[in-house]
Amino acid sequence: MLGDRDVRRMIEKTLDKVHEDIRLNIDKDNPDKIHAFEASRCTRLSYYERKDSIPSDNVTKMSTLVQDSIRHSFNNVNGEYKIDNLTLEATADMIVNNEFILGIEVVTNLPEIPHPRDLLYLNACLFAFNKNEGILIYITSKGETTEFSVTKSNRMFEEIIRRARILSTLLKEAKVPIVEPCELCLKCKYYGRCYSREKKTSSFSLESIWGFEKKRST
Ligand code: SF4
Repeated sequence: MLGDRDVRRMIEKTLDKVHEDIRLNIDKDNPDKIHAFEASRCTRLSYYERKDSIPSDNVTKMSTLVQDSIRHSFNNVNGEYKIDNLTLEATADMIVNNEFILGIEVVTNLPEIPHPRDLLYLNACLFAFNKNEGILIYITSKGETTEFSVTKSNRMFEEIIRRARILSTLLKEAKVPIVEPCELCLKCKYYGRCYSREKKTSSFSLESIWGFEKKRST
């Protein structure tokens, strides 16, 4: 406490405000506009973020802030791709020489291969900005980097459009998308809505199962 003010609460409020401000330009009230970020990750998570969101914890907020400050060192550019009544929005981290698009992902460990979600997203940027080549750069907090080149792919674009359409329809119908089991689930704030966390003592054990299998095979 500083005087009669709760400094911790004041800092948290400021953090909330900054976190809210730096979110991608997502028009949450318009289901005909889907950001490629929403369509490339778990659509159930994107649905909850629009319809029934849970506030992020402070660790997530800080990590978003760090990621975003790195991103803001580059010149973020917003673009869109329209198909019928659906608009797919995309934010490119940087366009180099008006020729290729740079995508930056801040990670804890450098990946061996690019994450499918990041490929879908960068490919959507290529379509939104009508470019043919992109470079996906993974960077750690220690400054280690690895790069992957990405060539425009119709097949991947059809996939993200399909996902954006499903999300758009389900948002209009107020129906929650299906669970998409992936590594993101482990840190997801909606884990409890998707999976049961109840721990029960089981009468089964690996030994008893294997023992049973041995008896059957003899
Ligand atoms: S827990 Fe997994 S399936 Fe559920 S919303 Fe999160 S990422 Fe999607």
